[in-house]
Amino acid sequence: MATTAASTDSRAALPSVDRVLRSEAGAKLVAAHGRALALDAVREVLAELRTERAAASEAGVAADAAARLAELTAPSQKPVFNLTGVVLHTNLGRAPMPPEAAAAAAAAMQSATNLEFDLDSGKRGDRDAHVESWICRLTGAEAATVVNNNAAAVLLVLNTFALRKEVPVSRGELIEIGGAFRMPEIMARAGCRLVEVGTTNRTHLKDYAGAISKKTGMLMKVHPSNYAIAGFTKTVGDAELARLAHEHGLPYAVDLGSGQLVDLAQYGLPHEPTPAEAIAAGADLVTFSGDKLLGGPQCGIVVGKAALMAKLDRNPLKRALRLDKGRLAALEAVLKLYADPERLAERLPTLRLLIREQGEIRAAAERLRPAMTHAVGAGFAVTVAECASQIGSGSLPVDRLASACLAIRAKAKGGGSVERLAAALRALPKPVVGRIEDGALKLDLRCLEDEAGFRANLDGFSLS
Ligand SMILES: *Cc1c(COP(=O)(O)O)cnc(C)c1O
Repeated sequence: MATTAASTDSRAALPSVDRVLRSEAGAKLVAAHGRALALDAVREVLAELRTERAAASEAGVAADAAARLAELTAPSQKPVFNLTGVVLHTNLGRAPMPPEAAAAAAAAMQSATNLEFDLDSGKRGDRDAHVESWICRLTGAEAATVVNNNAAAVLLVLNTFALRKEVPVSRGELIEIGGAFRMPEIMARAGCRLVEVGTTNRTHLKDYAGAISKKTGMLMKVHPSNYAIAGFTKTVGDAELARLAHEHGLPYAVDLGSGQLVDLAQYGLPHEPTPAEAIAAGADLVTFSGDKLLGGPQCGIVVGKAALMAKLDRNPLKRALRLDKGRLAALEAVLKLYADPERLAERLPTLRLLIREQGEIRAAAERLRPAMTHAVGAGFAVTVAECASQIGSGSLPVDRLASACLAIRAKAKGGGSVERLAAALRALPKPVVGRIEDGALKLDLRCLEDEAGFRANLDGFSLS
């Protein structure tokens, strides 16, 4: 015990660590958190009291330690209300999982499974086999493989087919997806040399043809998911590029980014290219994300020709990038929902949120306005306003979805600060994350399905 540094006065007024831990409140701390954490917390509280030369009872020290431990042991990653208006928000974990998928993941994670074990033969199996036939059924591809995310899928494809070789890519497709994912850098890390072809707005077939040499490893097209070029533009279609690649005996890969398994137009959403379309047009390999429009767990999916997929599987990087059993189980459950397109929109949260009608969202905003007005107090005015949600994660960047929000503004006289209000909402037991726009805090209610939970959460609100 480090009581020697304290003055005689404060030592007299503070109990020993041992006495605190043996008190009734101290014993409760040990029972709840274990001896090691309780001991540390009590020591820290006593050290602080000593510095402040304050006195405290055993129960007082134990209560302070309990508060410290509650904060320390609370989960760092917590559920939040995503009211940002961005449905697939990368910083908020992208697609929310359907309950079937979460349950399948939890079951797989808590038990030994036949992850890589063939139960018929008793021999070693293939982990991708749990999802491959579903993915092939939904994309029309011969074979599929899954890895950690789409960045990993692109890395694996490039490294397998173009290591120490050249890859011609259109200048209009050298994109940054955000964070550290920039196409030219991924290519360099994959060991390939990027050959830029065409211009930012226009690339022709002859540009690709002129760039092909003995050193070329593959042709690749990148769907510029998070931006759009409008006006005087020209890109080369998959069918033409596939034909050109095949004339030179090269594989043709398409990085779709989002890649949806069904045509979104049937749900009234803008069309997003599907892997099935790219495969039908002649692509040999197509890469896309599992947690963007597909609405599944974080993963990257490669679909395409069986012979090429076998090469991906033999690349040692595949081992480094592979998917764990929990996410494989979640992905399998999500893919099965796609097998029943009629009920997909009600069962897959991402799609359900994307197609919510503005009128329904506005009605939710009207219902919640009184509770919100009451919670934020007299310094703010809460109105129901129209707004536009984004799909997010670089999907369909120019398309906006008509939505509705609670717009909270500071009153002109004696009003509070919307920044402080936003911070207070983020400090709730289930943090509420909105966006500040035109001086107002806007809570887009498109992704709010649990209204009762939202109201109950507001009970704890205080603007201190
Ligand atoms: C999002 C995206 C990626 C990266 O996918 P992650 O799943 O985030 O790793 C790669 N390429 C394109 C075109 C994308 O849109």
